[in-house]
Amino acid sequence: MNYRPFGKNNYQVSALGLGCMRLPRIFENNQARVDEEKAFELIRYAATHGINYFDTALTYHNSTSEEVLGKALEGGLRKQVKIATKQPVWFMHTQADIRRNLENTLKKLRTDYLDIYLIHNINPSCWKEIRQREIFREYEKFREEGMIKSIGFSFHGGPQLFSEVLAAYPWEMCQVQQNLLDTDKEATENAIALAGQKGCALVIMEPLRGGGLAQATKEVQSIYDSFPVKRSPVEWAFRHLLNYHQVSTILSGMSTMEQLKENIEIFSRPESLPGCLSSEEKALLNRVKASYDAINTIPCTGCEYCMPCPHGVNISRAFALYNDALRFENFAPSQRGYWFTTTMGGDAGRCKECGACTQHCPQGIDIIQQLKVAHQALKGWIE
Ligand code: SF4
Ligand code: SF4
Repeated sequence: MNYRPFGKNNYQVSALGLGCMRLPRIFENNQARVDEEKAFELIRYAATHGINYFDTALTYHNSTSEEVLGKALEGGLRKQVKIATKQPVWFMHTQADIRRNLENTLKKLRTDYLDIYLIHNINPSCWKEIRQREIFREYEKFREEGMIKSIGFSFHGGPQLFSEVLAAYPWEMCQVQQNLLDTDKEATENAIALAGQKGCALVIMEPLRGGGLAQATKEVQSIYDSFPVKRSPVEWAFRHLLNYHQVSTILSGMSTMEQLKENIEIFSRPESLPGCLSSEEKALLNRVKASYDAINTIPCTGCEYCMPCPHGVNISRAFALYNDALRFENFAPSQRGYWFTTTMGGDAGRCKECGACTQHCPQGIDIIQQLKVAHQALKGWIE
């Protein structure tokens, strides 16, 4: 396994981190739950084969992910790894809730400290409240008391908001969505440079864009096949991110031992290092991106000029998920992503057709109508 510095913190983390949002699951009576036996095997294998960064959140797997991770790391493994977890603002009704939720998280994780504690999913709808309530000041108290070691945030939004959030507080880490299709979306490629300049450890989520990049379309596969060195679509997607020297760890939500072993192998190669991409490889990945971008979808650029919606609809997120479902010809990952958006109160079913958003869209998208289409296609996931 290759290791990288974690921002200004005086330790190194594995370039591959295990995201505990896609643990193996069992379905019973139209309900899903984590398959503990398989999840324990996966987590313990990761912790004993070089992975030392584990990411979870209060809400993952119906709020059971932290407990599963805590149980899996019992018996000495916890001390060998870094644990990052997150609390979302929609669980922080009062300042006292923030502490209660953290105490509960520590119990579930069977630990008396967290290595990194994040504010979960800062986005255009909740940033104002987070800043006004100075939630990071509450986190500072936890750090003084030894309950957490570092303060960070995870982010879904555009580059302007990302710069604002980064400038508002001396965060020790940030977690952003990036992959070879998002270089000009979400926080954008520039965010990687910005976080690096500030010495803020950078953790990447959705490196395979919900798993969609793991299976190439016919055209994309032919682009990959044209290159003299043969690599799987998964390895190409990871190499794109490994190339950035600012990136500390790349989270992958692995659900099977096969995926875990394949990824450990990729991240352990001597060439899987910052600066690994040649100019020919960069050109190849630009062609891959262009091929995906050419697929006809809702022409949303993710600019967020239409947001915040007064009723909380996360418009750009709904369109991004719907577009991915079309692009990758696979609705399940987007439906799951939409389920999370729904639990955060951002689903398109909340649209009251007030029309406040439509006039702001530079793409001229019929937002109200297209939200209905996206909602119809993405609703109904069982977590
Ligand atoms: S039309 Fe719907 S999505 Fe647009 S601002 Fe109004 S409620 Fe929000
Ligand atoms: S719907 Fe239009 S305004 Fe809203 S994020 Fe997409 S492109 Fe931007």
